[in-house]
Amino acid sequence: MKINFIDLQGQYKKYKEEIDIEIKEVLDSSGYIMGPKIVELENKLAEFVGTKHAIACSSGTDALILALMSIGIKPGDEIITTPFTFIATAETIAFLGAIPVFVDVDEKTYNIDPALIESKITDKTKAIIPVSLFGQISDMDSIAMIAKKYNLKVIEDAAQSFGAEYKDRKSCNTSDIGTTSFFPAKPLGCYGDGGAVFTNDDNIAEQIRIILNHGQTKRYVHSHVGINGRLDAIQAGVLNVKLKYYNGEISKRQEIAKKYNEKLKNVIVPFVEDNNLSVWAQYCIRVDNREEILAKCSEKGVPTGVYYPIPLHLQEVFNYLGYKDGDFPITEKISKDIMALPMSAFLTNEEQNYIIEVINE
Ligand SMILES: *Cc1c(COP(=O)(O)O)cnc(C)c1O
Repeated sequence: MKINFIDLQGQYKKYKEEIDIEIKEVLDSSGYIMGPKIVELENKLAEFVGTKHAIACSSGTDALILALMSIGIKPGDEIITTPFTFIATAETIAFLGAIPVFVDVDEKTYNIDPALIESKITDKTKAIIPVSLFGQISDMDSIAMIAKKYNLKVIEDAAQSFGAEYKDRKSCNTSDIGTTSFFPAKPLGCYGDGGAVFTNDDNIAEQIRIILNHGQTKRYVHSHVGINGRLDAIQAGVLNVKLKYYNGEISKRQEIAKKYNEKLKNVIVPFVEDNNLSVWAQYCIRVDNREEILAKCSEKGVPTGVYYPIPLHLQEVFNYLGYKDGDFPITEKISKDIMALPMSAFLTNEEQNYIIEVINE
């Protein structure tokens, strides 16, 4: 038995006929950039999430850059976020010359702890970026209350949570701006890099559309400094197919997570708030003897991952921010004992039983 950490081949085989047609249509049309496939995708994404605007872009990283630029983030501005996330969340803040200000996470959900945010707010703070880690949305109502009190914008980094739900809202529609990624290994992935930005604000949407196309308002007329942040049409074609089947995949992920939760013994299984639906970008457990278990898994053919072994405040790139070991005890503790198990809608019963057996052993 050869188990995949995420079974992208199994998924392609299932949708191959339709995906191949979509790709061929793009090749035959020679319309590789912008065009009808992007418009179709944006309409479908906005409908899925329930926002007024969905803007397709080149990656989840560029989606964050577009979001930050659209609200005018400048060098020296402070942005509050979590140190327990993928580098892109804080990297994009720093890339624009702004300052990532970290706040520790909640020990149960691994998402930013709203109770710790207020003490980090200064007169330079402009925004909060909660990350919907591993597919579960943060406590957005508490975060929105703080943001309102201090007049801050909230950007949900939903790179891992497209399709997740919080109360009656979908991920990417829980704050001023939502950003997601369609990197192949994300819950909804394309066959290269891709992403999207979501908002209900007409002004922000207009800014994002201008910035992602070189600050261009009309052909060769440029009003802003922008980037090349466009999604290409082949990726939109792939996503137009996959999006049709995505709700079914989300249900399948729930079943797999539920079975892991019920059958795994002597490990800490993930905690999902009652008012949340996770899309299980990762299924992570916490264990006492991680290195030993990782080695055993590898020996027995169970692929694993560690998200994330080094918290962002301890990354060399952020030395200049002056954080040190011990600053965020919960994040540091989790980063030492967390590990991820195979998760995808295409994991078979037989494979999952084997994984559970190996971990329990
Ligand atoms: C993957 C990821 C990103 C970046 O997305 P890319 O499409 O790879 O650029 C940003 N934030 C988080 C939390 C991610 O997991």
